[in-house]
This record gives sequence, structure tokens and C-alpha cells, in this order.
Amino acid sequence: MIVSTGANGRGGGAIRVEGDRWHVTLAGMLGDHPPTDPVGFAAFANTISSPDIHDIVTSSEPLDEAVPHRFRSPVRRRFERLGTVPQGFLVLGDALCSFNPLYAQGMAVAAQQVMALRDCLHDGAESADLPTRFYSAASKVVDVAWQLSAGADLSHPGVLGPRTPRTRLTNAYVARVQRAAHVDPLVARTFLRVANLVEPPTALLHPRIASRILLRGNARPVAPPDFGGQPSVDRTPILTEPTR
Ligand SMILES: Cc1cc2nc3c(=O)[nH]c(=O)nc-3n(C[C@H](O)[C@H](O)[C@H](O)COP(=O)(O)OP(=O)(O)OC[C@H]3O[C@@H](n4cnc5c(N)ncnc54)[C@H](O)[C@@H]3O)c2cc1C
Repeated sequence: MIVSTGANGRGGGAIRVEGDRWHVTLAGMLGDHPPTDPVGFAAFANTISSPDIHDIVTSSEPLDEAVPHRFRSPVRRRFERLGTVPQGFLVLGDALCSFNPLYAQGMAVAAQQVMALRDCLHDGAESADLPTRFYSAASKVVDVAWQLSAGADLSHPGVLGPRTPRTRLTNAYVARVQRAAHVDPLVARTFLRVANLVEPPTALLHPRIASRILLRGNARPVAPPDFGGQPSVDRTPILTEPTR
């Protein structure tokens, strides 16, 4: 279960794991950190835009203290811009670029960098320009995810950083994509595939998709289905009745 950050910048996630336990994460932004004590944790869970995670937290017993993790900002190191790069030494993964974990891209981008490295090794493993070729290829891989995540962060007025015309235009278009995704399953599917790095961002500019985005990008969010007043979460006492 994932509850996206609402207007108050708070969200969370809950994953059911073995032993009839839940792994729960709460998140805030711009210095709004969830408390780690059980009472404060539950109170914070009550402020996100869906009651499900609060229901889980309050109907379960904590197994341990909550563990805080604070992410200050994404960092991209531009090795491809160095005139001379150290030989016999390659940087990849988070050391090359660490992303805001909210967008869940880091491992995928690290894997894409490894594929780029495989191609570079295939084209000449012993050549002196291997690091230069790798950093150039890796920067193209990083560009896509960086634009999607660091660019999206800049749509929040409180986030520091330069807003280029490209950033503003992209964020305005993505906002339209997200509104259209509320009412158009094809747009929603394409957006998720782009956000998860399965398809390139240009997939959202394909005439078949762009026309739907332009037509439906002013859509109002659809009301969630009526569950007859029942919560959509399983209320079974979580720690006392193991799943078989
Ligand atoms: C909260 C959170 C949630 C995330 N969720 C997702 C997700 O859903 N999907 C996704 O794709 N990515 C996610 N990521 C990002 C992902 O975890 C990272 O992108 C990925 O782990 C980067 O791999 P790495 O090998 O480059 O670095 P790391 O995994 O950080 O590995 C570096 C290793 O080097 C070790 N080390 C550091 N200094 C030294 C030293 N001096 N000597 C020896 N060892 C050292 C560290 O202990 C560590 O084990 C998340 C990150 C966070 C923080």
C-alpha cells in the first residue's frame, strides 16, 4: 500500500511481510519529520490522506523503535565534465548520482549504468578512454531519472534550486499528465512505465498519448469507489492471526 504525499507533503507506505507483520514507512518533506515514538508515529499516520496506514499502526503492536532516515538532497557528480579522469577507477551507483528515495529509482539507474558499462567494456576493455566513454554513457542514463525526480522536486515551492524554462515546462506537462491519468488508463499506464524507467519520457509525447493528455489534462480527480463506509484495509488483528 502506498499513500502518495498529499497537499501537506506527508505520505507513507506499508508492506505486508512474513510472520503476519507489516513494514510501515511514514514520510514528510522540507524538515517535517515523522516522530519515532509510537504515539507520535500513530498521530503522524493519522494526518496522511488515507486512513489505511493509521489503521494498521493502531491495530498492531510495534516490534521495535521506528528508525529515522533523513535525505537532505539529491546529489549528482559530473564526472563526464572532468577534463582528465583517473585511470583504473570508475564511479557508479549512488556515488555517481544519488536520487531522492521517494522516486525509487536508485537501484534501477545503477543497473542501467552497469549495462552501459558492459557495452563500454565490449567496445574496448583495455583502452585508455574507457572511463571517459563510460561517464558519457552513464550521464545519458542518469539524465532521464534526474529530470524526472530532481525536476519534480522543484515543483514544490519550498525546494531550493534553479527552475529553468525546461523544468517549468516539464512540470506543467507532468501535472497535466497526472490529471489525465485519473480518467485515462492508457495515460496512467504510460506515466507509470516512464516513472519506473521502463519507457523513455518521450513516450508521453507520442501523438496517441499526447492528444489524450491535452484533451483530458484538465480532468478533475475521480472520487474513490464507495466501499459502503468500510475501510479498504484488512482489519484482522495483524499480530495475533498469522496468515496461512
Ligand atoms: C530509504 C531508501 C529507499 C530506497 N528505495 C529504493 C527503491 O524502492 N528502488 C530503488 O531502485 N532504489 C531505492 N533506493 C536507492 C538505492 O538504495 C540506492 O540507489 C542503491 O542502494 C545504490 O547502490 P550503491 O551500491 O551505489 O550504494 P550503496 O547501496 O549505498 O552501497 C555502498 C556500500 O559501500 C559501503 N561503504 C561506504 N563507505 C565505505 C568505505 N569507506 N569502505 C568500505 N565500504 C564502504 C556502504 O556501507 C555500503 O554497503 C532507496 C534508498 C533509500 C535511502
